[in-house]
Amino acid sequence: MAKLNHPATDVLVIGGGTAGFGAAIAAARQGLDVCLFEAGDRVGGVMAFCPGMPWGAAYPVDTIIGGLMEELSNRLFAMDPPAAAKRPCALENFGPEIQYDYEIATLTMFEMLEEAGVKVHLNTTAIAPTMNGNRIEAVEYYDRHGSHMIAPRMVIDCSGDGDISAKAGVPFELGDNNGNMMGVTLSFMMIDANWEKVFAADDPYFRDYAAKGIAGGRLHEDLAMLYLMKGFHKDTVFCNSVVIRGVDGTNPEDVARATQEGRRRSHQLAQFLKQDVPGFENSRMTYLGPTVGVRETRKLEGIYRLTGEDLASGRKFTDGIVCCDNPIDDVMRGSHDMTHDAIVEDGVYYTIPLSALIPKKIENLLFAGRIISADPTAFASVRGMPQCILMGQATGTAAAIALKDSVSVQQLDRSTVVVALQEQGVKGLRHATETRLKHPCFKVTHVFNSQ
Ligand SMILES: Cc1cc2nc3c(=O)[nH]c(=O)nc-3n(C[C@H](O)[C@H](O)[C@H](O)COP(=O)(O)OP(=O)(O)OC[C@H]3O[C@@H](n4cnc5c(N)ncnc54)[C@H](O)[C@@H]3O)c2cc1C
Repeated sequence: MAKLNHPATDVLVIGGGTAGFGAAIAAARQGLDVCLFEAGDRVGGVMAFCPGMPWGAAYPVDTIIGGLMEELSNRLFAMDPPAAAKRPCALENFGPEIQYDYEIATLTMFEMLEEAGVKVHLNTTAIAPTMNGNRIEAVEYYDRHGSHMIAPRMVIDCSGDGDISAKAGVPFELGDNNGNMMGVTLSFMMIDANWEKVFAADDPYFRDYAAKGIAGGRLHEDLAMLYLMKGFHKDTVFCNSVVIRGVDGTNPEDVARATQEGRRRSHQLAQFLKQDVPGFENSRMTYLGPTVGVRETRKLEGIYRLTGEDLASGRKFTDGIVCCDNPIDDVMRGSHDMTHDAIVEDGVYYTIPLSALIPKKIENLLFAGRIISADPTAFASVRGMPQCILMGQATGTAAAIALKDSVSVQQLDRSTVVVALQEQGVKGLRHATETRLKHPCFKVTHVFNSQ
């Protein structure tokens, strides 16, 4: 095939959610020319669609996972007054989490992208790859000026839904084994609540109140458990309760319908809280999500497919790139059930392997975040935002090493990536010493030439 003559970049990151944030910064810090395309009007992805949602799972076995998650949270902790705090999660089987000021956190994330030199394009959607055998030669995208092409040496798909990977021919599964995807949620925040009164009762799910609301026809039947959590700022309550089932997050019409239905149920719930739940009398709703947060769509096929058994045995892969001990956080996949059963015993964690972020065939494509190659059980545990940030960091780092070594992502020496991540402060990974001896020269500050 003739060489296409399109504007080039070293790395194209598709999607500016938590995974894209990690991928773009990691690649750019290696001196690469990095473009980040985000279809929406802000960075954060689900984090921005559900403003105020805590970073869960940042502390497996009560130890920070490190890397960009630690760097971001340290910046926020160090502010005066602090813009984030480590707090226990009120829900069973979840470890400590990081609560943060949403506005300051997104400002800081954007600043970190700027400092790394990432070219961030908002309102820019990747549409389709142009293939040359097993390589992505170019990617078509559109913005307000129309349709364009870009020729990246490496593509990192962090889009949550994996449209470009799927079009490039990467096999995928939708949802669980029966195609059921987790429910989507429209979240909101109540401000000026009274924490002491709101959280006076023992039940973290407000079941008695919810039952009364459902029996009286004032709450939807899927609101039997109300997920209400203290927000970062005093007397704010984050409401992660309104779940719409049976939605295909890759279908824009489904998403629009769910968002409108979510708005109805959220307003209904806010009204109910004010009228029926002590402590909410003087509160009001704010930060209603601009769209529903989508938990699960495509899971791409990687070199390795992470399984529930791997997690349950506390497996630590030799190419493990981030630690996790999150429970199986399953939200209404085809039923009313919301479960977060523990997957590992107290004091045990597992790692997520890089090989679950590498496709089997496409030579210059990596993926990160909730499109990871995982079975339905494993997926329900690995999908927290801290893990997505570090999956991104791992793929950004892997992209840089593959380009430097002029190898395909399949040929990449994954242990080199693990060493580089350890040098970047990622904690709890295996095999540093052996691989360090094999690759004594790799430096975090290595600079690569753009072509
Ligand atoms: C309701 C809800 C509650 C949750 N609760 C928590 C919690 O309390 N704590 C926690 O840690 N995690 C939580 N999670 C999980 C976590 O938020 C997600 O798994 C994580 O944010 C996924 O990050 P991501 O970057 O992989 O994908 P996303 O956040 O989905 O980001 C993908 C981005 O790609 C963009 N995009 C898509 N297609 C294209 C394209 N073709 N071109 C350009 N851009 C594109 C999208 O606009 C989006 O911004 C929750 C998830 C949901 C939905």
